[in-house]
Amino acid sequence: MRKTLMFTRLCFLINLATDNWICGFEEVRSGLTTDVYLERMMETLRKDGKADTHVWAEFSGDLPDGYEWGVFAGLNEVMGLLNGRNVDVWALPEGSVFRGEDVNGIEEPVMVISGPYSEFALLETAILGILSYNCGVATAAARVKVAAEGAPVFAFGIRRMHPALAAVSDRAAYIGGVDGFSGVGAGRRLGITPVGTMPHSFILIYGRQEDAWSAFDKYAPPDVPRTLLCDTLSDEKDEVIRAAKLLGAKLAAVRLDTPKSRRGDFEHIVREVRWELDRLGFKKVKIMVSGGLDEKSIRGLKKAGADMFGVGTSIAAARVIDFSMDLCQVGGKPVSKRGRFSGVKSVYRCTECLIDVVVGWEDSVGKCPKCGGIMKPAMIKVMESGKPLVNEDIQKIRTRSMQQTLKLGLNLDSN
Ligand SMILES: [Zn+2]
Repeated sequence: MRKTLMFTRLCFLINLATDNWICGFEEVRSGLTTDVYLERMMETLRKDGKADTHVWAEFSGDLPDGYEWGVFAGLNEVMGLLNGRNVDVWALPEGSVFRGEDVNGIEEPVMVISGPYSEFALLETAILGILSYNCGVATAAARVKVAAEGAPVFAFGIRRMHPALAAVSDRAAYIGGVDGFSGVGAGRRLGITPVGTMPHSFILIYGRQEDAWSAFDKYAPPDVPRTLLCDTLSDEKDEVIRAAKLLGAKLAAVRLDTPKSRRGDFEHIVREVRWELDRLGFKKVKIMVSGGLDEKSIRGLKKAGADMFGVGTSIAAARVIDFSMDLCQVGGKPVSKRGRFSGVKSVYRCTECLIDVVVGWEDSVGKCPKCGGIMKPAMIKVMESGKPLVNEDIQKIRTRSMQQTLKLGLNLDSN
């Protein structure tokens, strides 16, 4: 183990010398992306014979103000890190909603790890980072999707994040409920065809919109919808009419990515474009909008006539959700720092209204205090002695997230 660690560290140094700043999976898994205070702590605990103390650690998230729920994502990556370590893990199934606190104001764990501390102490930093980013993106995507009230939403934001996170970002957004994503990396991993239209540079290379659109129509695979970008060189309404005249019935959609400096009233531009398309008999042609959209702007644009939304920064670079890890039991004894609740806890969730009640590990909750519905344990055992017990399909995870977030809805006025 020590030799392997030294070898990985050597590779790490070589990587640094070649200006590769991307920390790979093996580096993360070996604990080389830890905060140094954990390394120093473990060194002391090892020398004092306490490194293998049996502990229970709980992970809970602190939701941003005004958020009533988050979407739990990133469990797959955490399991990848813990695979082969001598630990047991319980967690909410990926894609479940979670809250910072239960109905009684008790912090709600989303995941619990039990085992000798040395087995996972150096992974604390990495696990928190994985959960904070994944849950941040999945939650933002879910909020946008709920705000879109059923309209298709696509994640176009990997250019706003470090490329090392591209596949992570698209996967988390997909779990949150977007209908597709632009990234080829996540597409390859998930076996899902990525979604995209055409960049402005494509139009600029040809110099004339019709030439670029015709070339696209000629060479793009037949199953790629004919969605034409209509805002590069002239007025949106003018370009949309020209695109419709060029492709006729083949035109599936027009995309407006109007730059901020020209936007003025973007909703009104959408209304005008819809009006002209309808007037010319192109009622079936959809309007896709993109560029700086978020959960708040989508509603107005939808009302104005936009049918599809490409959302970038507000999903891929969503605010992270702060996660923390707390030891709640050490050597068989319940413990807690100030401000936390001691002992291992269990989360009970109402199968009807989805509210949560946190109780002691051995306790249970009979009826929902709000609706009288049935309460069931929300966390399941996902790993035993380092062996994963679950391996869920991405579609199942996404369906779970969408069912729960649509049921809970969104109060956009509260934040
Ligand atoms: Zn209930």
